[in-house]
Amino acid sequence: MATVEQKPAATTNGQSTGIAVENPATGQVVGTVPNMEADAVKALVARARAAQPAWEALGFEGRGAVLKRAQKWVLDNKDRIIETIVSETGKTHEDAQIAEIGYAANAFGFWAKNAPEYLADERVKSASIFVKGRKLVQRFTSLGVIGVIGPWNYPLTNSFGDCIPALAAGNAVVLKPSEVTPLTSMLMAECLTECGLPDDVFLVATGDGATGSALIDEVDMIMFTGSTRTGKKVMARAADTITPVSLELGGKDPMIVLADADIERAANAAVYYSMQNGGQTCISIERVYVEQPVYHEFVGKVVEKTRALRQGDPSGGPGSVDVGAVTFPPQLEIVEDHVKDAVDHGAKILVGGHARSGAGRYYEPTVLVDVDHTMKCMTEETFGPTLPIMSVADSEEAIRLANDSPYGLGASVFGKDLARAEAIARRVEAGAVAVNDAQLYYVALELPFGGAKASGLGSRHGPGGIRKYCQTQALMVTRFAPKKDVQMFPYKPRTFKLLGGLLKLVYGRSKRR
Ligand code: NAD
Repeated sequence: MATVEQKPAATTNGQSTGIAVENPATGQVVGTVPNMEADAVKALVARARAAQPAWEALGFEGRGAVLKRAQKWVLDNKDRIIETIVSETGKTHEDAQIAEIGYAANAFGFWAKNAPEYLADERVKSASIFVKGRKLVQRFTSLGVIGVIGPWNYPLTNSFGDCIPALAAGNAVVLKPSEVTPLTSMLMAECLTECGLPDDVFLVATGDGATGSALIDEVDMIMFTGSTRTGKKVMARAADTITPVSLELGGKDPMIVLADADIERAANAAVYYSMQNGGQTCISIERVYVEQPVYHEFVGKVVEKTRALRQGDPSGGPGSVDVGAVTFPPQLEIVEDHVKDAVDHGAKILVGGHARSGAGRYYEPTVLVDVDHTMKCMTEETFGPTLPIMSVADSEEAIRLANDSPYGLGASVFGKDLARAEAIARRVEAGAVAVNDAQLYYVALELPFGGAKASGLGSRHGPGGIRKYCQTQALMVTRFAPKKDVQMFPYKPRTFKLLGGLLKLVYGRSKRR
């Protein structure tokens, strides 16, 4: 099986000889990209920095026009983008269409439309007596050059997707895609150029972790999506230059199935949202807790539906398979290790449980039972097509186990009594929780999405998803004022007493409880 070459022998002009990009579904090499070193990254950021002021000067309307053209380009070139994504990830055409094309097509229009409102000046009223009569404004200005570092599981949605609001806010962007899946980002650079983005406003720095590390040193803000392990390194590196970071990290999303749930829907959702994209979604359902009375019925349905899944090379086109390949070589070892560890500790495999032999890299859709929190499959991110299911006595045990995790990305609760299900959802420690659903909160770009606990810092989408790419400025304008304010020098006992009395008068009138 071919692997991605990340240690090139020769180095020329600040970039090494290249990284081979492999199709995980077939093992064939589908492209080669430069592995940029620090000097090359520095030069890219300098070009982006020079291009940024003119881009910012275009204003929301000028920038929005480019983004709207890109929205159309994505739909006009849908098949080409899907082929590129499928060729470097090994995912199915369906996964590429819904979760990548669907996201980008929405996001270009969403940020073009909403950036002006989200970043509009906001007049603020203050309770302070010292600023009475002054104009107070919160405003947002672009930061300069944003560095976006992305993972391999969604090359369009998670690597490129975060560049869209950064550009809408008037920044230039240098994107460092995963070394495993860089081709989609290069295609999107072509898209933006064809749609009229000025030269150098969006640049792609292909390369490995060292390229990403070098990018952190040069830019004004880092938007990172990837593992919690790398996220910690990114934050530490950014601390050297006090560069702000936004981190979208790993997860171990729990699903809770209550005794009154629609078991057919819950089973369909469990299988789809754990196996979709080969289980390689940050908000995949990674573990399930089922109230004891419906445990056997739920497991029976999940087993039947998982057995029916067709897995293999998606190059046969739409409808040919349900589950594609394992994109990243080391991920296969992690999935194998989690399943073996579970079995060693007493778990039972009801479906799957093996890597497939032959061309390409696949792990069978797998259902595990008799699992508990001594096992890695219930406590560490597996990021593969596995679904461990555990029986719980009641919802209290389910909530306790759901929260027994360093992660807090997404979660879901299934139950017909909506008031009870929602009350339970509100007690789960996660950045996003769905009732009788999963994952779909991610496509509501109006809703903030970001991880709790070790799953991240900051959020994407909603107003915060673009304001993070800006410097917030507090602006105060004083129009009418005396020659000298009462608190100014020289200090005198009389003014001290006067101001003390004023403070008491203004703030001392609230009733004591
Ligand atoms: P990763 O952390 O291995 O790599 C992510 C990116 O960081 C890659 O581009 C990589 O080259 C780069 N990188 C590696 N070392 C670096 C360093 N020292 N400094 C700067 N950059 C460096 O993650 P991955 O394996 O590509 O992606 C899978 C992970 O991403 C999973 O944990 C998944 O949950 C997470 N993820 C999270 C979200 C989210 O929104 N929270 C979305 C998608 C994926």
